[in-house]
Amino acid sequence: MEPTEAMPDTLHCDVLVVGAGNAALCAALAARESGADVLVLERAPFDDRGGNSRYTAGAIRFAFDGVEDYVRVVPDLSPSELANADFGRYTRDEYFDDMARVTQYRAHPDMVETLVNNSLETVVWMNKKGVKFNPSYGRQAFKVDGKFKFWGGLAAEVTGGGPGLIDNLTSSCERQQIRILYDARAHELLFDGARVGGARVRQNGGNVDIHAKSTVLAAGGFQANAEWRTRYLGPGWDLAKVRGTRFNTGDGIRMALEIGAMSYGNWSGCHAVGWDRNAPEFGDLAVGDNFQKHSYPLGIMVNARGERFVDEGADFRNYTYAKYGHVILAQPGQFAWQIFDAKVLGMLRDEYRIRQVTKARADTLEELVKKLDGVDPAKCLAEIEAYNRAVKADVPFNPAIKDGRGTSGLAVPKSNWANRIDTPPYEAYAVTCGITFTFGGLRIDGAGSVLDAGEKPISGLYAAGELVGGLFYFNYPGGTGLMAGAVFGKLAGTSAGKAARG
Ligand SMILES: Cc1cc2nc3c(=O)[nH]c(=O)nc-3n(C[C@H](O)[C@H](O)[C@H](O)COP(=O)(O)OP(=O)(O)OC[C@H]3O[C@@H](n4cnc5c(N)ncnc54)[C@H](O)[C@@H]3O)c2cc1C
Repeated sequence: MEPTEAMPDTLHCDVLVVGAGNAALCAALAARESGADVLVLERAPFDDRGGNSRYTAGAIRFAFDGVEDYVRVVPDLSPSELANADFGRYTRDEYFDDMARVTQYRAHPDMVETLVNNSLETVVWMNKKGVKFNPSYGRQAFKVDGKFKFWGGLAAEVTGGGPGLIDNLTSSCERQQIRILYDARAHELLFDGARVGGARVRQNGGNVDIHAKSTVLAAGGFQANAEWRTRYLGPGWDLAKVRGTRFNTGDGIRMALEIGAMSYGNWSGCHAVGWDRNAPEFGDLAVGDNFQKHSYPLGIMVNARGERFVDEGADFRNYTYAKYGHVILAQPGQFAWQIFDAKVLGMLRDEYRIRQVTKARADTLEELVKKLDGVDPAKCLAEIEAYNRAVKADVPFNPAIKDGRGTSGLAVPKSNWANRIDTPPYEAYAVTCGITFTFGGLRIDGAGSVLDAGEKPISGLYAAGELVGGLFYFNYPGGTGLMAGAVFGKLAGTSAGKAARG
């Protein structure tokens, strides 16, 4: 149905899906497999469709036991590509351990197991639905002895990034006769006290009741709601920039809580990164995720006092970036400068070479520190000199492994990839905190049903994606948001479809 087309006062379907991002569209496609008549609601207008999923670069984390599994996901590799790459493996145990470790052992083990054990089969299923994947050469591999060596458990990304993902999932829905209504905001669940029978939807200033046998909530987190951010994440979070869609304001969570659903997970936690200091308030689809600045493991970060404040090389970027936005927000003025020298400039990620970047460049450190807007230059220079003296220069530098080339004797250590900042030209990039998505949400069971406060499934109601709590606490392994959306979206859609048809 076209966005401007007037809707009748009531509509009927077997499965109603609220949201049109990755989790929602995977749920819709899975529900359709059982023969259900599926209707999808997208709050955003057509041009802004696809939620946060559309803003991603498409990195997706799945378990694979070697190249035989990998080629099931990326089947079109040429013999020379296969010969020139070491994709490695990322076992289920490694995935499980990464989730446990980065969430400080709080992630719900059953949910993690569901995520990990279904990850490979779900990306293969997505591939069959028309989503293509390719090796993530640009972001997750370094050339070692002429061969691409992949690292950090993230060896593939969606072809075409987030826009490619949403376009292909949407086309797949269209092929399956799944209807998508745009500019259609669900604002209340139809609940008779015993079961959910659809949702009340606002469109063109009027209300429409959509009656459904099963309803899947996949409407994202509450990161675009400044008031809820401050309420749940804490003071200062109103000042964060939103990396993605402006439409994820917690509607799905609110609607479910209003009928007695259980709140669950890390409500004071979120995924937040270093993001260009002058980026707009919400994401810009033309720039996508390129406002992020994720090469800090190759340099240092200083705050307004000119001081380093975090271990830039504590771990691979994948395992630190999602919590460092928080650390940057806590600095005076909520900003930091990342500093690099000529030795690593060629290794900086592509996002450093966009036009919309807040950057300083100089041929001497004395000149550079004066160009760092808001920073005490004398203290900053002293900090860089102290850092340079502390680098363990006798340990070889190797960006493809945790090389142990750290610092010694500093109050804030750098544990890996420490190089002296001593070779001109020097470059610095200003970042603030960009929030990606919130971790708190609803509680689901093993079938994707939303649980009430007594931990009983709410009949007719399912959930998936960012609005589900229990998977992420404090931190997050890169590429898991899309994977979790797909696995739990497919699960919720399958259950919703079967229940509606059964
Ligand atoms: C810049 C950026 C880069 C990222 N990069 C990656 C990456 O490379 N890999 C990765 O795994 N993750 C990445 N993420 C995280 C990832 O985007 C999310 O974890 C994932 O896409 C969430 O999917 P979702 O379907 O739950 O939510 P979304 O994709 O946000 O979808 C939510 C949908 O609900 C709709 N909606 C909201 N309220 C209503 C309502 N009331 N009625 C109807 N519809 C409603 C929204 O419009 C939207 O369509 C990134 C996020 C951002 C912002």
